[in-house]
Amino acid sequence: MLLPVFTLKLRHKICPRMVAVGRYDGTHPCLAAATQAGKVFIHNPHTKSQHFGAPRVFQSPLESDVSLLNINQAVSCLTAGVLNPELGYDALLVGTQTNLLAYNVYNNSDFFYREVAEGANAIVLGTLGDISSPLAIIGGNCALQGFDHEGNDLFWTVTGDNVHSLALCDFDSDGKNELLVGSEDFDIRVFKEDMIVTEMTETEVITNLCPMYGSRFGYALSNGTVGVYDKAARYWRVKSKNHAMSIHAFDLNSDGVCELITGWSNGKVDARSDRTGEVIFKDNFSSAIAGVVEGDYRMDGHMQLICCSVDGEIRGYLPGAAETRGNFMDNSVEQDMIRELSQKKQNLLLELRNYEENAKAEQSSPLNEADGQGGIIPANTKLHTALSVSLGNETQAAHVELCVSTSNDTIIRAVLIFAEGIFLGESHVVHPSTHSLSSSLRIPLTPPKDVPVDLHLKTFVGYRSSTQFHVFELTRQLPRFSMYALTSPDPASQPLSYVNFTIAERAQRVVIWLSQNFLLPEDTDIQNAPFQVCFTSLRNSSQLCIKIKLSGEITVNTDDIDLAGDIIQSMASFFAIEDLQVEADFPVYFEELRKVLFKVDEYHSVHQKLSADMADNSNLIRSVLVRAEDARLMRDMKTMKSRYMELYDLNKDLLNEYKIRCNNHTELLENLKAVNQAIQRAGRLRVGKPKNQVITACRDAIRNNNINTLFRIMRVGTASS
Ligand code: CA
Ligand code: CA
Repeated sequence: MLLPVFTLKLRHKICPRMVAVGRYDGTHPCLAAATQAGKVFIHNPHTKSQHFGAPRVFQSPLESDVSLLNINQAVSCLTAGVLNPELGYDALLVGTQTNLLAYNVYNNSDFFYREVAEGANAIVLGTLGDISSPLAIIGGNCALQGFDHEGNDLFWTVTGDNVHSLALCDFDSDGKNELLVGSEDFDIRVFKEDMIVTEMTETEVITNLCPMYGSRFGYALSNGTVGVYDKAARYWRVKSKNHAMSIHAFDLNSDGVCELITGWSNGKVDARSDRTGEVIFKDNFSSAIAGVVEGDYRMDGHMQLICCSVDGEIRGYLPGAAETRGNFMDNSVEQDMIRELSQKKQNLLLELRNYEENAKAEQSSPLNEADGQGGIIPANTKLHTALSVSLGNETQAAHVELCVSTSNDTIIRAVLIFAEGIFLGESHVVHPSTHSLSSSLRIPLTPPKDVPVDLHLKTFVGYRSSTQFHVFELTRQLPRFSMYALTSPDPASQPLSYVNFTIAERAQRVVIWLSQNFLLPEDTDIQNAPFQVCFTSLRNSSQLCIKIKLSGEITVNTDDIDLAGDIIQSMASFFAIEDLQVEADFPVYFEELRKVLFKVDEYHSVHQKLSADMADNSNLIRSVLVRAEDARLMRDMKTMKSRYMELYDLNKDLLNEYKIRCNNHTELLENLKAVNQAIQRAGRLRVGKPKNQVITACRDAIRNNNINTLFRIMRVGTASS
């Protein structure tokens, strides 16, 4: 067993995920955490007489070793670390929905205080790619922004959806960090500076990410899943009915490799092997875990794992001695082994009994052999699977059809499908009623997103009266664009929107790409270039046409800008295209965007007007209050009363205005998100350098309020003509 080497009980609540340890004076590690009512507390057990004066920090009335930092706004993210390497001490970074504060606790001054329109849902501090100075990188409303210690934003880009988690990790093992971004659209994106190099699709919102070592990192989802990736491949994952509040990599058993430490919503902390996910340590708190961090909190040269609960309970654990070989669980390794082996024995005995019973049944009724009533299926039985698209009819919506069939008169009793992102809970069982049993089974599938999905199938095959079944296991891949049915071109409904580009590939290679990414009917015979193929979306019946000319010029017609981006990205990775410039036009979408940009302008000016009104009202309140107090001192109760009535009305007005400002701000954020998404989409229509150029140029155009340039960039990929 591993016992805490220290425990503390602070009299402050701790907001989940907002805990950090920093050496704000360069020497003493202090715990900082966001607490209720827009405050951050800094616990400094080392120097009793450290004085923090005005303006931001004051001494906690509850504890002598706690200072409070007033943020006056709900804190949305918090971290600490080296922001300016020349200083030799750490900065404390606190983000809210509107601002980012980089605080110099030692000097009691701001490094910087920046307005961040896109909000700060997540923060990470460290070096990124070739950018030499450390950056405080925040993720908000579809945007990523990185600041140096002077508050210059050296890094900005957009991403597909609202950011929930960030981590820095050397994903491709080149000695430089990439940025991992977990977002609301279930994607983990890997940014090499401002370029996306990899995207992994998960099954829920990615709430936490943490680097482990090398290219390995941990992740947590909003549905209670935690796990470990190595590069783009998932190593293991487990799912709990509780929520993972905080994850952190720490070598708790001193074997030189970090474990994934998870703090759970039910107060449990566990450490899992990075390789297997096996639990090697656990402990329980009486309330949910708010944060898991590390630091040399006793200042004896040894790092401790520090776990904090939302109720302010803090425990520090020292890594176990190397000889313990790492398992701190109550059960010994032998007991686990015995349990595992007896389970195996049970399973084997069960299997043996099944075989014996089958053999017996066969012997007792040899005449039945012909119709296979014995339950044993012929040795040459094969299982076929086929995928096709069905445009649907009055009774059934359009769908992808998986057909499973056996090669003889055996029947399919049930099919179990495991696949991510298609079914609720990742699995689906098809179990036909007894009277409709047959040797083939059609299963409708409707993948919600255009991503390739592995279907892991377990098919139970036998005879009608069988009590035991043979299980066939196999995996089929559902291609990325399986929700599009090949249809004949219909010039009347051909989309006006398009992307146009040229690739140096033979048409035959494009045909191979088509056949790997779409479910083409078996008899499809695509001739050499030039050719045109048209598809109908099974989701909304919209058209998609892909034309290729002899010259290698490709035109894709679709009104769905995301689909156009997916097709370009899919081709780029299939043909290993590094840079691709693309001409595009999405008239309807761009018109919508133009409206959004006007709204953003409107909300900005309303915001300014409301802020000015609020300042006026605050001044008015001050003067009315002074006059009311004067009246009181003069014992002029009548005037005093009327002044206070006035004050009461003013206060009501202010509250109303506050509500209006809140709504205005929410609307503004929604519209800014749409703008960022549009930039990201325009980027995704290009590959490599042209993609980055589009994103940077779009942002410059917006900064300079040059809307015509913005649309020009989105169309042709560059600002200059
Ligand atoms: Ca790297
Ligand atoms: Ca370890």
